[in-house]
Amino acid sequence: MATTAGTTAVETDTAPLVDGFGRVHRDLRISVTDRCNFRCTYCMPADGLQWQPAESVLTAAELARVARRCVERFGFTSIRLTGGEPTVRADLVDLVEDLARLPVDLSLTTNGSRLERLAPRLVAAGLRRVNVSLDSLRPDRFAATTRRDALPDVVAGIRAAVSAGLDPVKVNVVLTRGVNDDEVVDFARFGRDEGVVVRFIEFMPLDADQRWTRSSVVPSAEVLEQIHRVFPLVAEEPGSSPARLHRYADGLGEVGVIGSVTEPFCSRCDRVRLTADGQLRSCLFATDETDLRAILRDPGLSLASGEPGPREPGQPGGQSADPLDQALDQAIEATVAAKWAGHGISAVHFTRPARSMSQIGG
Ligand code: SAM
Ligand code: SF4
Repeated sequence: MATTAGTTAVETDTAPLVDGFGRVHRDLRISVTDRCNFRCTYCMPADGLQWQPAESVLTAAELARVARRCVERFGFTSIRLTGGEPTVRADLVDLVEDLARLPVDLSLTTNGSRLERLAPRLVAAGLRRVNVSLDSLRPDRFAATTRRDALPDVVAGIRAAVSAGLDPVKVNVVLTRGVNDDEVVDFARFGRDEGVVVRFIEFMPLDADQRWTRSSVVPSAEVLEQIHRVFPLVAEEPGSSPARLHRYADGLGEVGVIGSVTEPFCSRCDRVRLTADGQLRSCLFATDETDLRAILRDPGLSLASGEPGPREPGQPGGQSADPLDQALDQAIEATVAAKWAGHGISAVHFTRPARSMSQIGG
């Protein structure tokens, strides 16, 4: 693709990653660890999971190498770091600093428990926005859900993120029928008071305990109705994000719903996911993975110093002369080419993936 005067190389000198259904992929979710300091009931078992051995987890240089190929070759525009809990990874700030050099919208999803201390360092490293997960505003219920007594830490983390200048700060609430579906309006009020965007997420069949049932899902439409009765809402134009956003009619911010189960957004999906152990997945619910770690560690290809391969001026479509980059590019392309139309949670033949949410990276 030719570079036109006045535009940057990354915008034009790339080969868009299009799947068999015409969806262009521009969003990379990187799980930086499968470990977590919480044990949310809808995600992990009480005793945790078998963690990946340290040597199986991609190094910061390996993660950054894949990220760079997605940006330089395929023109990705956003990267989100997740886990497990990303803030338990010791070199997270360094990784953020490295990735912040790429021309992408870089964000982080966290349980917020370590954010009070980390937010200023993350901002200094180049992070611009953050999503914090919080499923109850009641201390006893929070402790029962996360199996940790840490509500004050998370609320302090949210406030620290706002004070540090992260913008927007979004708060993700997974609703479960009979557990926290009576807190919808409380959360709406919390978002308005704290100046954060609350987004309600439907519970998905990715819990390690496999307790998910269709009846435990709180439909997004019901959430919006509940809020609208107390704080009138005005729908915003749908964007590329899976969240359906609504403005408060009185101008006090916005609120979103992510209806992954009742209103799947698969036809608009533009994501690929990299697990902490270097497996590329084209969907949260994919049953196949592509082993990028094997490529990154192939002695014949060699990561060398962890620096990106040389880009020769004039090479079209963000191509690299480096054999490792070329092998990564081919693997990424093949993974997306094989992507299915959608997850089919509601279909009779639906099969849960072998890994649960924290092992994939939500
Ligand atoms: N530990 C971080 C956190 O909790 O934000 C990042 C990883 S967590 C797996 C990412 C997101 O997935 C969180 O918003 C979490 O609430 C959500 N999540 C986990 N299990 C889920 C499930 N079974 N259904 C829907 N969302 C889920
Ligand atoms: Fe940990 Fe996030 Fe899963 Fe909760 S949702 S157990 S914080 S990875």
